[in-house]
Amino acid sequence: MLTTDALTKLLKLPKHWSIERTEIRMSPDEAHIWLVHDRGHFPCPTCLCLCAVHDHTSERMWRHLDLWKAQTFLHARLPRIQCPDHGVAQITVPWATPFLNMTMDLEREVISQVLACKTVSGACGVLGMGWDQVRGVMMRAVERGMARRADDDVTYIGVDEKALLKRHRYVTLVYDLERKLVLDVMPERTEESLLSFYRTWKPARLENIKMITMDMWGPYKTATLKMVPLAWDKIVHDRFHVAQHMGKAVDRVRIDEHRGLMEASDNTLKGTKHWWLYGQENLPRHLLADLANLVASDLQTAKAWTVKEHLRHLWAMTSVDTARDYATAWARVAKDTGLKPVIAVADLVLNHLDQIINFARNPVTNAGAEGINSIVMTLQRAARGYRTWQTFRMAILFYCGGLALYPTLPRSAPCA
Ligand SMILES: [Zn+2]
Repeated sequence: MLTTDALTKLLKLPKHWSIERTEIRMSPDEAHIWLVHDRGHFPCPTCLCLCAVHDHTSERMWRHLDLWKAQTFLHARLPRIQCPDHGVAQITVPWATPFLNMTMDLEREVISQVLACKTVSGACGVLGMGWDQVRGVMMRAVERGMARRADDDVTYIGVDEKALLKRHRYVTLVYDLERKLVLDVMPERTEESLLSFYRTWKPARLENIKMITMDMWGPYKTATLKMVPLAWDKIVHDRFHVAQHMGKAVDRVRIDEHRGLMEASDNTLKGTKHWWLYGQENLPRHLLADLANLVASDLQTAKAWTVKEHLRHLWAMTSVDTARDYATAWARVAKDTGLKPVIAVADLVLNHLDQIINFARNPVTNAGAEGINSIVMTLQRAARGYRTWQTFRMAILFYCGGLALYPTLPRSAPCA
C-alpha cells in the first residue's frame, strides 16, 4: 500500500496542494484522489497578483495517468479569488489545461500517443479513451501551437487543394515549402479561401514572399495577385501540375487511337498505357526497344508522346527569355499535331505562360510537400471524425503543422 507521502511525490503535486484522502474502487479498477490546498491566497489569473480566497467552486474531477492500470482521477474544489482589479475569478488549475477534464501529464501522454500511432483511432485503442476526448486534446494542442507559432519570415509558399473525404468538398492548404510544414488550412478552394489566409498576414510579411507555387486554378491566382506585392513575377505554376495535364492528354490520344485500331483488329497499342506515361529514362530497360519502334511509327500516340517529352526540356531553361522562346516554339509544334487533347495543353501553357516560365527565375516546386501529402492522404482515408473541414484542418495541423503541441505549466505569480 502506498503511503500518502509516496503518492504525493509520485503525483508531483504543485506547492500548497496535498492529498486529503484516497479511495480505491474495484471492477472496474479506479483510484480516486481528493486534493486540498493549505493557503489563503492565490494569484489572480489575469494580473498574477496574490489575492485572498473568496470561495470555492463545486468539486471537479480530472482523469490522470493510470496507476497500476487503474484509471486514476483527481478531485478538488478550486478556490475563487477576489482581485481588487478583476473581481472574483477562479484560479488557473496548476495541473490541467483550462476546460480539459484531464491532467497535463495525461494530456502530454495523449499527444504522444496520437503522434506515435499516426491515427486517432489507434491512439484511442491504446489509451482506452473515446474519440471525442482525444479530439478535444488535439484541438487544444493545435490552438496552443498556432498561438505559439513565431511570426517568422516565410519566403517560399505552396498552395494546393485537397478533397475532404470523397464528397468532392475541398479544402485549401498553404505550405511553407522551406520548412516543409502546413501553415494553415482553409475551407473550399475559392478566391475567398486564399484571401482569408493572406489577410492573417501583415503587409511586410506578404512583401517578403519570394515565390508561391500553385496549380493553374484561377481563383488562387486572382487572390494572390490581389494580396501579394509583385505577385505576377512570384507565382509559379507547379511543373508537376503542367506535366499531369500533358500526361492525361497523351493517354486520351492513346485511348482514342487504340479504340480505332481495335475496330480493325489491330492491337498494336494493347498493354502500352504506361509506356507512354513514364519519362523515357524511367521506363524499364526491356521495354525501351519496343517503345522506340512505336515512336518511329506514324501513330498519333507517338506524336503526342514526342510533344510530351519535348515539354520536359522547358524546365531546364535558366532564363525567362529562353524559356518563353522555347515554350512558344513547343506550343507551335504541339498545335501542328492536330490532336485535340494536345492542342488543349498547348493553349493551357500559352494562357499561363508568364507564371509557368517564372520557374526559370526560381526553380521551386511543391515537391517538398510530398511527405506532407502522404500524411494528408492517410488522414483522408481515416474518414471517421473528419466530416467537417474544421476537424480535417485540426488533424492536418496536428500532424503537419510543425507546431509546439505540448502543454506547459501556467505562469506563476511574481509574488507567489
Ligand atoms: Zn487581477
